[in-house]
Amino acid sequence: MSKLDHATVIGNELALRFEEGEELFLPLDLLRRACPCAACQGEPDALGRVLRPVQQIGPRGFELLRFQVIGGYALQLFWGDGHSTGIYSHDYLKRLAVLP
Ligand SMILES: [Zn+2]
Repeated sequence: MSKLDHATVIGNELALRFEEGEELFLPLDLLRRACPCAACQGEPDALGRVLRPVQQIGPRGFELLRFQVIGGYALQLFWGDGHSTGIYSHDYLKRLAVLP
């Protein structure tokens, strides 16, 4: 499990540096659209089907106000429209960063 060494917002990207030296740059709009919380990504119904909801993103929804390190394995992001239920694991952040 890699430890997060440093995180900061640069322009419209979240820049992360992990202990082993790996650096990630994640556009804020991509991060918000990929919010992993149940309200954004949906939950499986009784038959296991996941209906992806329409994401509610407010006018300042792509503005990252602050973030909190969760237990050394994830980041919780607090957005300008008040949304903050997404917990982004380090593995998830790394997967997002390699998407085209
Ligand atoms: Zn969400």
